[in-house]
Amino acid sequence: MTTLILILGDQLTPDISSLRDADPAATVILMAEVAAETDYVWHHRKKLAFVFSAMRHHAAALRDAGWSVDYVALDDPANSGSLGGEVARAIARHQADRLIATEAGEWRLRDEMANWEAALGVPAEIGADDRFLCSEAEFAAWAEGRKALRMEYFYRDMRRKTGLLMEGDQPASGQWNFDADNRKPASRDLMMPRPRRTPPDAITRDVLAMVAARFPDRFGSLDDFWFAVTRAEAQTQFDDFVAHALPRFGDYQDAMLVGEPWLYHSIIALYLNIGLLDPLSVCQAVERAWREGHVPLNAAEGYIRQIIGWREYVRGIYWREGPDYVNRNALEATRPLPEFYWTADTDMACVRAAVAQTRDHAYAHHIQRLMVTGNFALLAGVDPHALHLWYLAVYADAYEWVEAPNTIGMSQFADGGLLASKPYAASGAYIDRMSNYCSGCRYDVKAKSGPNACPFNRLYWPFLIRHTDRLARNPRMAPMYRTLNNWGAEKRAALVADGNACLAELGL
Ligand code: FAD
Ligand code: SF4
Repeated sequence: MTTLILILGDQLTPDISSLRDADPAATVILMAEVAAETDYVWHHRKKLAFVFSAMRHHAAALRDAGWSVDYVALDDPANSGSLGGEVARAIARHQADRLIATEAGEWRLRDEMANWEAALGVPAEIGADDRFLCSEAEFAAWAEGRKALRMEYFYRDMRRKTGLLMEGDQPASGQWNFDADNRKPASRDLMMPRPRRTPPDAITRDVLAMVAARFPDRFGSLDDFWFAVTRAEAQTQFDDFVAHALPRFGDYQDAMLVGEPWLYHSIIALYLNIGLLDPLSVCQAVERAWREGHVPLNAAEGYIRQIIGWREYVRGIYWREGPDYVNRNALEATRPLPEFYWTADTDMACVRAAVAQTRDHAYAHHIQRLMVTGNFALLAGVDPHALHLWYLAVYADAYEWVEAPNTIGMSQFADGGLLASKPYAASGAYIDRMSNYCSGCRYDVKAKSGPNACPFNRLYWPFLIRHTDRLARNPRMAPMYRTLNNWGAEKRAALVADGNACLAELGL
């Protein structure tokens, strides 16, 4: 009597639900690198190397802990190329009479796994993924009957539930949210902490060679790989962030600087999303740092909000809204994804920096994703599904449950305002205020129209004009539409014509 337990590539947590009650003596764990998972989008090569190396290290750790692990590498000649195929082969190989797994983190694989019991001829028990603070059922109950879903109220409930930064039933220092303090632009003379790096070991070097050989034409550099691939290394990198960068995380959360991809960010989403770090422990460490007087409250609160607020909230939306969420297109945007999202070959210094950094590091921070690449796509009317596939491919932390609500909902307003109360559309003035990109750009951020004017400026008003019917009644958009209404039809037509010229000049 052998039980086969499948561990997926983002389930690298020792007490994952599938392992919890298992008997190591009667169990074989299956882990498999399969082409179906490398190919459903064109993942960045550093992301592939990170996931495979972390999987191989996790398999070794499970073996050290006494489990029997059957590991199928991507270049194993017998590899069938799909998870279902590998599960079927392993059931035959080990004469397993039962399959156990933890549910997958996206609809595509969940739907596929739902058919396995019938297809494989053995009972398949698929348990919940309980590595989150809020279960799908809890989120659905929270959302039920609310007129509008807003992250802030969800976040307050998560604070109450976890007790993080609470004094009794009140928020620490009497205030829930310090976002208003977190908008400082960074300046060049700040001491910039560098993330702690983990040099590749022999396993990682093998994986890097395999990914280089197998995916020579894929997007993304494999050079300078320093991601942690074990729990201990991820914890060390996170501790280093708490000691050196967290104190200024809040102040400079929205800032962008040429040549500074990391600023005061933690670079741990990739570890959280794959199971190498635990979200609650991370937040407890941040709270401790505040209580010990090491970091200010605006930094600790801002950081914890991202994890117990945004991260849990977007996951709740993803599962609540169903598999069709990724196809929503409330603003009916249809333009193909610009080629420069893959090449960084554009004169727009901000977009060039964000894409080049994405190519080199499989990383861009939140404001680069939201207010540079996301904002440009929104203003230009890029098809949100094409953009979703891009974000899902290019970041080391990208998994559909977290990427899709951020892209479709927050960034593109393609869910019609379910997730965000207004579109994150901005002219070049915002980027100029929060970064030093504009001083090195061939476009003039102060100019409003014509071939030398910043494209964000030229596309901003045409975007609002195009979506008047949908957005003009939104109270948060009212000031912009008041300005627009003060302009005559002739001026509005000229703005639209200039926006169209801008798109043509950009080759779109
Ligand atoms: P920090 O800035 O240090 O923040 C700390 C942690 O907070 C992050 O590690 C992350 O776990 C969490 N967090 C912060 N903002 C969000 C958010 N909006 N949603 C969920 N979690 C958040 N995040 C992903 O983990 N995977 C994605 O695929 C992803 N795609 C995105 C796509 C778009 C268009 C946008 C606008 C945002 C996306 N985000 C995604 C959210 C956010 O940009 C990243 O979590 C963050 O940049 C990761 O870098 P970091 O670890 O240095 O985060
Ligand atoms: Fe970006 Fe416009 Fe500034 Fe150039 S001028 S960096 S395009 S915001």
